[in-house]
Amino acid sequence: MSINIAVVNKYYDLAAMQERVPESVREHYRALPVTVDACTGCVACELRCPFGVPIASRMAQASELFG
Ligand code: SF4
Repeated sequence: MSINIAVVNKYYDLAAMQERVPESVREHYRALPVTVDACTGCVACELRCPFGVPIASRMAQASELFG
Protein backbone atom coordinates (compact mmCIF):
# COMPACT_ATOMS: atom_id res chain seq x y z
CA MET A 1 0.00 0.00 0.00
CA SER A 2 3.15 2.21 -0.17
CA ILE A 3 3.16 2.88 3.56
CA ASN A 4 6.55 4.21 4.64
CA ILE A 5 6.93 1.68 7.44
CA ALA A 6 10.29 2.98 8.70
CA VAL A 7 9.01 6.54 9.04
CA VAL A 8 5.77 5.43 10.69
CA ASN A 9 7.82 3.42 13.18
CA LYS A 10 10.02 6.43 13.87
CA TYR A 11 7.03 8.68 14.55
CA TYR A 12 5.40 5.95 16.63
CA ASP A 13 8.51 5.56 18.79
CA LEU A 14 8.83 9.32 19.22
CA ALA A 15 5.18 9.63 20.24
CA ALA A 16 4.96 6.52 22.41
CA MET A 17 7.80 7.61 24.68
CA GLN A 18 5.81 10.72 25.69
CA GLU A 19 2.81 10.93 28.00
CA ARG A 20 0.82 12.51 25.18
CA VAL A 21 1.43 12.50 21.45
CA PRO A 22 3.38 15.71 20.69
CA GLU A 23 1.46 17.86 18.23
CA SER A 24 4.58 18.27 16.09
CA VAL A 25 4.91 14.49 15.69
CA ARG A 26 1.20 14.14 14.95
CA GLU A 27 1.46 16.82 12.26
CA HIS A 28 4.44 15.08 10.66
CA TYR A 29 2.51 11.82 10.73
CA ARG A 30 -0.57 13.39 9.15
CA ALA A 31 1.61 14.91 6.43
CA LEU A 32 2.64 11.46 5.20
CA PRO A 33 1.28 10.76 1.70
CA VAL A 34 -0.01 7.40 2.96
CA THR A 35 -0.89 6.78 6.61
CA VAL A 36 -1.36 3.46 8.37
CA ASP A 37 -5.09 3.67 7.71
CA ALA A 38 -4.20 2.17 4.33
CA CYS A 39 -2.78 -0.98 5.96
CA THR A 40 -4.83 -4.04 5.14
CA GLY A 41 -3.03 -6.28 7.62
CA CYS A 42 -1.99 -8.60 4.81
CA VAL A 43 1.38 -9.25 6.55
CA ALA A 44 3.26 -9.35 3.24
CA CYS A 45 5.82 -7.06 4.86
CA GLU A 46 6.31 -9.42 7.78
CA LEU A 47 6.92 -12.36 5.48
CA ARG A 48 9.77 -10.39 3.88
CA CYS A 49 11.23 -8.92 7.06
CA PRO A 50 14.54 -10.63 7.93
CA PHE A 51 14.22 -9.59 11.58
CA GLY A 52 10.75 -10.97 12.23
CA VAL A 53 9.28 -7.61 13.16
CA PRO A 54 5.49 -7.79 13.77
CA ILE A 55 4.89 -4.90 11.41
CA ALA A 56 1.15 -5.32 10.87
CA SER A 57 0.41 -5.12 14.58
CA ARG A 58 2.74 -2.14 14.82
CA MET A 59 0.74 -0.42 12.09
CA ALA A 60 -2.43 -1.12 14.05
CA GLN A 61 -0.85 0.35 17.19
CA ALA A 62 0.19 3.43 15.24
CA SER A 63 -3.32 3.82 13.88
CA GLU A 64 -4.71 3.71 17.40
CA LEU A 65 -2.10 6.14 18.73
CA PHE A 66 -2.43 8.74 16.00
CA GLY A 67 -6.17 8.26 15.47
S1 SF4 B 1 0.48 -5.54 6.53
FE1 SF4 B 1 2.42 -4.70 5.76
S2 SF4 B 1 2.43 -5.11 3.52
FE2 SF4 B 1 0.31 -5.37 4.27
S3 SF4 B 1 -0.64 -3.35 3.92
FE3 SF4 B 1 0.09 -3.36 6.06
S4 SF4 B 1 2.16 -2.47 5.96
FE4 SF4 B 1 1.59 -3.02 3.85
